[in-house]
Amino acid sequence: MPELEQQRRIVTEIPGPVSQSLMARRTAAVSLGVGTVLPVFVAQADGGILQDVDGNSLIDLAAGIAVTSVGGSNPEVARRVADQVERFTHTCFMVAPYEGYVEVCERLAELTPGDHEKRSALFSTGAEAVENAVKIARTHTGRDAVAVFDHAYHGRTNLTMAMTAKNLPYKQGFGPFAGEVHRAPMSYPFRDPAGMTGEQAAQRAIDQLESQVGGDNLACVVIEPIQGEGGFIAPAEGFLPAIAAWCRERGIVFVADEVQTGFCRTGSWFACEHEGVVPDLIATAKGIAAGLPLAAVTGRAEIMDSVHAGGLGGTYGGNPVACAAALAAMDVMHEQGLAAKAARMGELLLGRLTQLQQEHAIIGDVRGRGAMVAIEIIEPDGLTPAPAVAAEISAACHREGVLTLSCGTYGNVLRFLPPLVMPEHLLDEAMDVVAKAVANLPRT
Ligand SMILES: *Cc1c(COP(=O)(O)O)cnc(C)c1O
Repeated sequence: MPELEQQRRIVTEIPGPVSQSLMARRTAAVSLGVGTVLPVFVAQADGGILQDVDGNSLIDLAAGIAVTSVGGSNPEVARRVADQVERFTHTCFMVAPYEGYVEVCERLAELTPGDHEKRSALFSTGAEAVENAVKIARTHTGRDAVAVFDHAYHGRTNLTMAMTAKNLPYKQGFGPFAGEVHRAPMSYPFRDPAGMTGEQAAQRAIDQLESQVGGDNLACVVIEPIQGEGGFIAPAEGFLPAIAAWCRERGIVFVADEVQTGFCRTGSWFACEHEGVVPDLIATAKGIAAGLPLAAVTGRAEIMDSVHAGGLGGTYGGNPVACAAALAAMDVMHEQGLAAKAARMGELLLGRLTQLQQEHAIIGDVRGRGAMVAIEIIEPDGLTPAPAVAAEISAACHREGVLTLSCGTYGNVLRFLPPLVMPEHLLDEAMDVVAKAVANLPRT
C-alpha cells in the first residue's frame, strides 16, 4: 500500500501560494521554451496521488506521461535504487560493464512479443531509442528511407522531430529536419470514411508508400501501435497486422514505438500483443523504470547484431541506477499483476466515459485501451475539433484537483494515463470530476 494517503484534498486555491512563489522563481530561471501543464509544484507522489508544496493532494491522471506506472515513490524501486547508488552510480557500460544492464536486456527478451532470439541496446530517452532503431534498420537493410504516419510522435531530437507529425509546438522554427522521412496516412477510425476497415486503411498507406517512396527503398516503418501525443488514436483492427505483413514481404524492418504504450499500460505488457503483431524491433522507455531515465531497443538478433562494434551506445545509456529501477519496476508489475489491473482500469474508464458521451454531444469519440484512454472533444457539427472546450474541461479538472493532460494533432483530446497502482476509488472519483467539468460547460 502506498504510504501517501490516497485521498483527494484541496486546501488552497490551485495553484497555492507556495507554488505561485516557486512559479515566479521558475519564470526568472527556466527557459520559457519549457512548458508547464499545471503550475503546481510537487512535494511527494505515490499511488494515484500527487501532493503539492501547499499541502493539496491531487489525483494524478498523467503519471508523468505514462511513466510512474508503479507509483511515484514505489518502496521496492526506492530500496533497489538506494542500494545501487551506495555500490556505484556509473561506470559507462561501454567502458566497464555491470550485471544490471545485462539483466534488463534478458528481461526485455522474455517480455517483448515473439520467441525468436533477441538482443537489446539501452539508452536514456525514448527519442534516443527511436533514433537508434532507425540507425539499426538502416545498417541492416542498407536502405535510407523511413516511413512514419500522420499524427505520429517520436521525440524531439533532429531525426525524431522529422518523424513527428505535429508542427506546433514540436518543430516550429527548429528545422532544417533530417531527410528521407516519409509520411503515410494513419488508420483513424473516428475521422476515416465510415466503414473503412483496418485492412483498407493499411492498403491506403501501403499504396502511398509504394508509389511515392518504393518499398525497396524503405529501411523501416516506425509506428506507435496506439498513438500517444497524436491523440490516443487506436488504429482499426487489422491495420497493424497488414502493415507488418507488407513489411515482411518487402524486407522492411517493422519498428514498434512502444515508448508510451509499453510495460502494461494497455492491459498487456506491450500493445502489439493485442493483435498478435511481432515487431522486428521495439523501442521502449517511459514506463520501463519508474521515472529513472532508461530506454531500449529490443529486436531480432540478426538485425540488432548487424551493427559494427561501437556503433551503438552513449555515456549514460543503461545507467546502473536506472537499470536497478527497471528491474524493480518489472518485478512490481509482475507481482501486482499490473497488466490485468490496467485492463480493469480501462473497463472502468471506457464505461464511465461512454456513458458521459451519451449525455454530451461534445464528446465525439471515446477510445483507447487499458489505462490509456481519451475523449475527443468536438463542435456540435460532430467533427470539427474543439480545442478551447477541451482546455476548459482540463482547467476545471485542475481547479478540482484532478491532473488531466490534453493531446492530439488538433489539441482537442483529453487523455487519461493514471499510474497503474492507483486505487479504483480514486479513478472513479476522478471520472466524477471530469463528468462534472463536462456538465458545467456553458454549451452542453
Ligand atoms: C514520449 C515518446 C517518445 C519520446 O520519448 P522521450 O523520452 O521524451 O525522448 C517517443 N515516442 C513515443 C510514442 C512517446 O510517447
